[in-house]
Amino acid sequence: MADEETNTFVQWRHAPASQWLYCPLCRADLKDRCWDGKMRRYCPHCGFVYWERPLPAAATVIVNSRHPTKIVLVRRRYPPEEGQWTLPGGGIESSESPQEAAIREAREETGLTIAIDDELGTWSTPSRETVVVFYVAHPLGGTLRGGTDATEASWVDLEAAPRLAFSTHREALARFIQRQVSAG
Ligand SMILES: [Zn+2]
Repeated sequence: MADEETNTFVQWRHAPASQWLYCPLCRADLKDRCWDGKMRRYCPHCGFVYWERPLPAAATVIVNSRHPTKIVLVRRRYPPEEGQWTLPGGGIESSESPQEAAIREAREETGLTIAIDDELGTWSTPSRETVVVFYVAHPLGGTLRGGTDATEASWVDLEAAPRLAFSTHREALARFIQRQVSAG
């Protein structure tokens, strides 16, 4: 329960540069300064600069070659879009490659161990706050069950798939379906 309570406060959210008041290194007041034609928050005391960047994430279309029309979807446990379906995925930790993050998130959210076969593409969220790399993978083992950020994990037929919660996931799934169709 403690974990769940903590998790509800760990949202993917950027604090816009304008909301950064103090240097996280030395606690001096941050000032505005122009770099590369853009205003950035920087610390005149120690030189810290807040480079506003998108957050990197990875997600996966898990497909079983024996049932190529079925993929694994997970139902979100937390806001935003709580209760809605997405592909398994999440944020890339600083110690991980995008592929390692995709494999870890799949294990955490679906219970499946996966092997990555291919990269589908990369999309930005409409707000440009997150960049998501999408992979195609197949299961190696494990037992399908929802975990951590997912209340439920399920094999879903592509034709009966619910609308996914995020535009990046919808775009990636559309690309996947288009590739399946071209592959015949
Ligand atoms: Zn500083």
